[in-house]
Amino acid sequence: MRLAEHLTSLGTETAFAVSAEAAALAAKGQKIYPFHLGDMNITTPDNVIEAAIAAMKAGKTGYCPNYGIPQLREALADDVSRSHGVKYAMENVAIQPGGKPTISKFIMALMNPGDEVLYPNPGYPIYESQIEFHGGVAVPYSYREGETNFELQLDELEASITPKTRLLVVNDLQNPMGAEATEEELARLAKLAIEHDLYVLCDEAYFDIRYEGQSKSLASLPGMQERSVILYTFSKKFAMTGWRLGASVGPKEVIDAIARLNVNDESCSNHFIQYAAIEGLQGDQSGPQKILGILKERRDTAVDILNSIDGIRCFKPNATFYLFFNCTGAMKKKGFDNSEELRKAVLKETGVSFCARMHFGRPLPGETEHYLRLAYSGIDVDQIQEGLGEFKKYVEA
Ligand code: PLP
Repeated sequence: MRLAEHLTSLGTETAFAVSAEAAALAAKGQKIYPFHLGDMNITTPDNVIEAAIAAMKAGKTGYCPNYGIPQLREALADDVSRSHGVKYAMENVAIQPGGKPTISKFIMALMNPGDEVLYPNPGYPIYESQIEFHGGVAVPYSYREGETNFELQLDELEASITPKTRLLVVNDLQNPMGAEATEEELARLAKLAIEHDLYVLCDEAYFDIRYEGQSKSLASLPGMQERSVILYTFSKKFAMTGWRLGASVGPKEVIDAIARLNVNDESCSNHFIQYAAIEGLQGDQSGPQKILGILKERRDTAVDILNSIDGIRCFKPNATFYLFFNCTGAMKKKGFDNSEELRKAVLKETGVSFCARMHFGRPLPGETEHYLRLAYSGIDVDQIQEGLGEFKKYVEA
């Protein structure tokens, strides 16, 4: 088979390979503690499920508009206007089959081959993959450990801007690090985007997965709404990862281009699910609140155990359901040179399954600290205690 040459520049989410490894061990009878994938073992709120069933029974089973149904576009525009403090209308919303499609469609709509795109690394691996697949140049910016959380390296980001830089990808409330920009950092990012005329993808997958305080969007800063596309997703807030529903929210011209890509790619997003999403946005909110309560207890449990382990250091992020913990001490103690070797050994010896640094973009030159990523979205508190207990025993043995 001669596959297209173009495919060599397409990356993947290598975390799925970790799932396969864990599944292979499980098939041999090993107990697995699944901390690797950001999937959720929490069920979607009942009112949302009921609304989907009702819509299906009401015959919402045919195609719908490529932009999504008007009622959902309007409901989402109202919701995002409220949470962001800037006004969006229905024309600013194109419904998508998940949050992820906004990444490639934003790039296809705004990037020309050879354009440079700034993206976070460590970060969600699909940015690097999609930028390069569409002929762009992926230019990483990074984070370093600060006092209470990881901090954006803004000087480094600014120094990477060239006349060819066209797009900036920002994933505030960040996967894998749980990092969050301060107001000053957001203001500086906005200033840079405006000064250098950059279009911005605000990946807000975790905007509502927040335990304290209020999320703030870069898109809501003065001068930013007209140059930003928000990646919205129903996946996390409503525990709907497998339903596949999200949206692109941004300036009408880009939304029109993205909706044209919808026609070419999937015609429309799943029709009846869109009625369920309206119920999610406008109905009883006890479901999302319960989800946040469950996740917060898991975070607190995991952070406490990790910080009790010799050679491990972990922040307690206010948002996301990830912990990117420093394992440099533990790694050296166990005689490994990189976190991927430690990850593999831990999985084999204890069944505890994490992701490693390398699953979040190509490691950058000069990295001296080593990290593993733990997702607590798919594992209950008692299993977190048991699994991290095994991990502690392994590291400290
Ligand atoms: N963006 C980030 C940063 C993510 O972590 C994820 C999923 O893990 C997504 C986007 C896409 O999620 P979905 O397509 O389920 O909305």
